[in-house]
Amino acid sequence: MAKHQEHYSFFDSVVESFDRAAACTKLPKGLLEQIKACNAVYQMRFPVKIGSDYQVIEAYRVQHSHHRLPTKGGIRYSMGVNQDEVMALASLMTYKCALVDVPFGGAKGGVKIDPKSYTTKQLQMITRRYTTELIRKNFIGPGIDVPAPDYGTGSREMAWILDTYQTFKNGEIDAAGCVTGKPVNQNGIRGRTEATGRGVFYGLREACSHADDMKALGLTPGIAGKTMVVQGLGNVGYHTCKISQEEGDVKIVGVAEYEGAIYKEDGIDIDKLMKHRAKTGSILNFEGAKNLKKREDALELKCDILVPAALENQITKANASKIKAKIIGEAANGPVTAEADVILNKKGILTIPDMYINAGGVTVSYFEWLKNLSHMRFGRMQKRFDSNSYMNLVNLVERTTGKSVSNKERNFLTKGADEVDLVRSGLEETMIVAYNSIRDIKRKNKKTQDMRSAAFVCAIEKIASDYMNLGIFP
Ligand code: GLU
Repeated sequence: MAKHQEHYSFFDSVVESFDRAAACTKLPKGLLEQIKACNAVYQMRFPVKIGSDYQVIEAYRVQHSHHRLPTKGGIRYSMGVNQDEVMALASLMTYKCALVDVPFGGAKGGVKIDPKSYTTKQLQMITRRYTTELIRKNFIGPGIDVPAPDYGTGSREMAWILDTYQTFKNGEIDAAGCVTGKPVNQNGIRGRTEATGRGVFYGLREACSHADDMKALGLTPGIAGKTMVVQGLGNVGYHTCKISQEEGDVKIVGVAEYEGAIYKEDGIDIDKLMKHRAKTGSILNFEGAKNLKKREDALELKCDILVPAALENQITKANASKIKAKIIGEAANGPVTAEADVILNKKGILTIPDMYINAGGVTVSYFEWLKNLSHMRFGRMQKRFDSNSYMNLVNLVERTTGKSVSNKERNFLTKGADEVDLVRSGLEETMIVAYNSIRDIKRKNKKTQDMRSAAFVCAIEKIASDYMNLGIFP
């Protein structure tokens, strides 16, 4: 939301952070250069008929790293799309996948349009044409490159992509795995929509569970009762708020959106705020809340956790020194510039980097892709078996103790896992394990001063070992 500085390059900012972390490793320079570089950049222009006129649409797909295949990453629809941005986002996908042990290379797509200026029919035409361009250049496929939703796109666009792909690839048995984030009734998976926000919550909860880290920030351990400010109420921001509030007892004290920002010391009920926004068209003038002068002011509010969940380049050297939060959870990709990072680290703020904290989306995309390749819903084989086994156990306990459990208790104790239960537990496990491996690197490697550098080191070492296993580097 902050104005983009004139010479800001998102890709350069990622490279700067990469180089800072690479200096903490002993890997050969050539290997580091290979990891950093974007392997394939496809820039396209295609015409679409809008009304009686033709418009030439600018679009991209960047495959950052082919060390593992398929490559993976969302497609963004926004007027801010340009090659530099898509390259940066694709490279972040590579590190993200490595961190959470999702066996993909990184990619990203972008279409330079404002989706709000088109009808549904026109958006469908643009999406189908974009997909056709990807098919023509062999830039999409379940074993090649697998798109997903990102800023400005959702399950609807993914359904159009799948349908276009299937039209061209009639009979391809694994076609459904050519894109993830699809509607559940069209080969999608339960729990994908909220996955990024849920992952942000699990990551923050894990961070807050380390008593010594919290002590260093002057905070008590545990996420319950922590105050949070969220920038952006899109899919990621909204679900982060909702799940943090409902499952973590977090108090959302500030929210920023395109039209402005609000503050409410005793907490904002996120669903009430969404209803208010749907009714009035704005988050402003929400009952009991104070309107802030500018939307950017929300970033500078006093709180325990700040969650930028909008776009890149929000915390820059211009406002970094004014940030009062103790923890920053980068739900968006690249919200903190490399320059701002230095200032935040000096202030002792715990920045939990994007490539880790927002990896829930791609993690559940991986589960969806596996579901598509297996042609079967998770839980289908075990659910009933597990439930019957638990039932036998409960019966045995009842018989041997002479006591009986209530129906409610019986249902709870004998439940077999559904797809959504397995998705959530897989995501929770992934986020906890990844957090601790990054934290361990930060503690053991004396050169890594912050979580971003530690996350980069963790990702770089995994990718480097893949290259070595491939026999490309010694
Ligand atoms: N667009 C999301 C991201 O930036 C999800 C990518 C995916 O699921 O492939 O991580």
